Amino acid sequence: MIVTGSAQREAWQQRVLPPVERVRPDVWSIPVPIPDSPLRYTLSYAFLDDTGVVLVDPGWDTGDGRAALTAGLRTAGTDLGDVTGVVVTHVHPDHHGLSGWVRERSGAWIGMHPVEARTLPGRVWHERRAETDRAGLVAHGAPEAEAAALTTDARRISGVLNMAEPDRAIEDGDLLPLARHEVRAVWTPGHTPGHLCLHEAGAGILLTGDHLLPRISPNIGVHAHEDGDPLSAYLASLEQTAKFGADEALPAHEYRFRGIDGRAADLIRHHDERGAEILAILHRLGPATAWDIAAGLTWSRGWAALRGMLRRMALAETLAHLRYLVTTGAVRPAEGTPIRWRI
Ligand SMILES: [Zn+2]
Repeated sequence: MIVTGSAQREAWQQRVLPPVERVRPDVWSIPVPIPDSPLRYTLSYAFLDDTGVVLVDPGWDTGDGRAALTAGLRTAGTDLGDVTGVVVTHVHPDHHGLSGWVRERSGAWIGMHPVEARTLPGRVWHERRAETDRAGLVAHGAPEAEAAALTTDARRISGVLNMAEPDRAIEDGDLLPLARHEVRAVWTPGHTPGHLCLHEAGAGILLTGDHLLPRISPNIGVHAHEDGDPLSAYLASLEQTAKFGADEALPAHEYRFRGIDGRAADLIRHHDERGAEILAILHRLGPATAWDIAAGLTWSRGWAALRGMLRRMALAETLAHLRYLVTTGAVRPAEGTPIRWRI
């Protein structure tokens, strides 16, 4: 992997916001701060066109975020009012948070993959969610007291429940409505079900969202009350992304880089190793819950240090691996409650 965003990496290391950069003619990278997050910023991308601007991932909605986006567009020689379209790689609030505000200020449309739209927090939230959530955690082996403490608190997520509904669907292979650019959507499910990357072949760039980042392995998780096998989807998406090996990756966090194929291979290897670690634990423990398996895995800060949301994410990652191992035939669910897994 070769880091091409050297100013971005320097800023990353110095814990400051990177500069607004022109990464190609009429393509700009605008860092938008994320409050209280180790990720620190989202890299929003602006495609300048004959009739206006298409903005990808406008970032987290805070006063500082709005100011950074507004100032960044001015540096690029344009204006918030010139934005004609907003495309989000996925609906996490560090990407989609500001979309509604941008639409309000500019009249822009908002586009996303239709599968992603179905996961908007405002659509999936329901009154009984806290109870479903708690029961799911217990079913996968969380101790009662801890399950109660880890249950999603409606007050904490109230901000994301209002995130904007889309105006248009962007499917795999669709071209964005631009005259000066030929940007094609690439559906890369895994981190989220409707995650999109955006490819501009002529410019030799792939906007990778959170699908492929230079340093962090994106969270691939399935919550205790959810179905599905996102890791199979993610690994297939990584295989597909590897064919863009000649292009520069413009990720939504950290810094720009080359070597998409090598980075995709690294992430596939990382997940293989994780799978092997889970099988080793099951050899040792016999049938075990996802909770007990998660507690036995190596985590960079240790299981004991993982609290709250981090512990939920660790459990969700473990469960994603177990579902994948069931798909490959390496693991099967055992009889009884709580839900246990065996070789
Ligand atoms: Zn993100």
